[in-house]
Amino acid sequence: MPPSRAELAAKHQRVRELAAAGRSTAAIARELGMDRRSVREVRATAGIPALPGGTVQHLTVEEKWAERTRPVDGGHLEWTGEHSTGPSRTPVMRHSGQTYTAGRIAYRIQHGTDPTGHAKPDCGHHRCVAPAHQYDTATRQPVYEPRVHYDSIEAKLAALTETTDDGHVRWTGPTTASGQRVLSFGGTNHPAARVAFRAHWGREPIGPVLSACDYPHCLLGAHLDDKQARDAFRAMFTGLFGRAV
Ligand SMILES: [Zn+2]
Ligand SMILES: [Zn+2]
Repeated sequence: MPPSRAELAAKHQRVRELAAAGRSTAAIARELGMDRRSVREVRATAGIPALPGGTVQHLTVEEKWAERTRPVDGGHLEWTGEHSTGPSRTPVMRHSGQTYTAGRIAYRIQHGTDPTGHAKPDCGHHRCVAPAHQYDTATRQPVYEPRVHYDSIEAKLAALTETTDDGHVRWTGPTTASGQRVLSFGGTNHPAARVAFRAHWGREPIGPVLSACDYPHCLLGAHLDDKQARDAFRAMFTGLFGRAV
């Protein structure tokens, strides 16, 4: 059944609102399930010119990156976006006229800084772009490892940490030149905070893991949160007080 006049009018009103808010023709067409020509006609009738260049990047680098990843077993992330044309077929992404490697963006998500060298996955999963699995080729140093066998990564975490007098947990294991606390287990290096988070909360952390207490770099699981927990907390506060905290 074709849409009624009222439905069409409502849809066109929505086009005018979105166009006035600065959305591109393509974005409006996608959101409202219309073809671009109809959107352009409504735009023209309302006197709202199309944006210069036709389209505008509305996603941040990180948002666009996230849209091009797919989680796979083992906590790895596969890249569904473009690859470089050379023999390395490096996962890459264009944003606002710049080309980035997906690994570099992943490294930045994890560490909050750019790698000095290249970002490379150290998990053994080919071309993995999981943020926690990226390391910086310029700062990675060999890590001293005592020859002790541990049955589980949690057992090794316990062996390489100690509880402080005031109830926090301190790392006593190896630290890389760039200050990362690395737990090597099963042939893979794991950031200690992510292992501690997983051991306590029973799930993979999403986004950076930070300690919420005032002990620097505390590794007590109960004191760690991830982006998902911080977002949920913020949403709860917004709900309670009607504003973000
Ligand atoms: Zn991986
Ligand atoms: Zn703590």
